[in-house]
Amino acid sequence: MADAPLLRARARVPLPDPDAMLHRLCEHFVAHGLVTRRERGGRIENQFGHAELELEAGALRIEAAGVDRTALYVVKMALAEHIFEMADGEPPAFQWTGDADAEAGIPFFREMTVRGASNVTRSMRRVTLTGADVEHFASGGLHARVLMPPAGREPRWPIAAADGRVVWPKGEDELTGRVYTIRRIDSERGELDIDVVLHDDPGAPGSNWAATAAPGDRVGLMGPGGGEIVAADWYLLAGDETALPVIARIAESLPPAAKAIAFIEVEAAADEQPLTSAADIETTWLHRGAAAPGTTRLETAIRDVSWPEPGVAAYALVGCEQAAARSIRTLLRKERGMGKKESLVAAYWRRGRSGGEVERDT
Ligand SMILES: Cc1cc2nc3c(=O)[nH]c(=O)nc-3n(C[C@H](O)[C@H](O)[C@H](O)COP(=O)(O)OP(=O)(O)OC[C@H]3O[C@@H](n4cnc5c(N)ncnc54)[C@H](O)[C@@H]3O)c2cc1C
Repeated sequence: MADAPLLRARARVPLPDPDAMLHRLCEHFVAHGLVTRRERGGRIENQFGHAELELEAGALRIEAAGVDRTALYVVKMALAEHIFEMADGEPPAFQWTGDADAEAGIPFFREMTVRGASNVTRSMRRVTLTGADVEHFASGGLHARVLMPPAGREPRWPIAAADGRVVWPKGEDELTGRVYTIRRIDSERGELDIDVVLHDDPGAPGSNWAATAAPGDRVGLMGPGGGEIVAADWYLLAGDETALPVIARIAESLPPAAKAIAFIEVEAAADEQPLTSAADIETTWLHRGAAAPGTTRLETAIRDVSWPEPGVAAYALVGCEQAAARSIRTLLRKERGMGKKESLVAAYWRRGRSGGEVERDT
């Protein structure tokens, strides 16, 4: 089958020193993809698409390309945000023309409405959201960012600027974003579920949102992102309750031939949820009791796992508190020799820091 034609957009970015900007962009993007330099330009490629850059007097000409609207938008946005960040003096004024212009909006944003909320366990609340296009969240990643408007205000959502940047509402309309796994999507009913941990911090926006979510409340959803389910024969799935939704979703997707070992840290038996899977899955619940969440129990359990024979395609997904994630990442990378393609160990939260701060720091 022939590949779908790429969507393309062009911009002429006026700059006092276009050569310096070309150099800075290439230096930056080499850490995120493939960069090819030419005498009067360059090409930047990443998993979303590519951009051709050409120098001309007083400007940098860019042609961005992506396989679909989202991919093209991400290429344009990444370039625009870095151009503004790296520009000397006056911010450049430019706009993209071509496929999928700014009026079409941010392709990975959807407004959603709360349909209902109920407790899965005493510590986990399921919020069901409905929207015009839930199918959008079915591929491209397992997670999304919930954008919560300030209480009592009509939500104002982010918009796409003509130069490709996302313009966020500020001041009284500022949104709070928190990342959650999309636990389940039901395209026929036009709804999706997000399972939120009701943790102890009384002022936490995400946990509070889930605790008080009522039918008709509106939220924004940006995504999906954060990687898809990786095909393997043997899985290690581990995390605290924040990773329980992703572990449950992955478990449900595995074929009968797969083997999986799951370790989930929760406070007590009352916080456990049955995992459904066609695969051969062995689940161990690690009870931390009165200890604060984010203990070393996951690391200790992972250390004792009997690893599959060489040649068996193994994949590990771990999500937990940052300090625990760090030691588990070191264990899997250094002691088990798992590369980046075979393991994803992520800090889902960080003790004493809000989700917003954790994202800014990483
Ligand atoms: C890829 C990804 C997927 C995620 N999926 C989910 C999911 O499906 N469900 C889910 O509930 N969470 C999930 N998380 C974690 C969630 O985003 C964070 O827990 C987030 O900080 C919660 O926001 P909040 O507003 O409730 O608390 P924040 O305002 O972010 O934090 C306030 C305080 O509470 C502490 N805190 C935050 N989370 C916890 C916790 N779980 N236990 C104890 N203390 C905590 C913080 O350290 C801070 O001191 C995910 C995170 C990532 C990166």
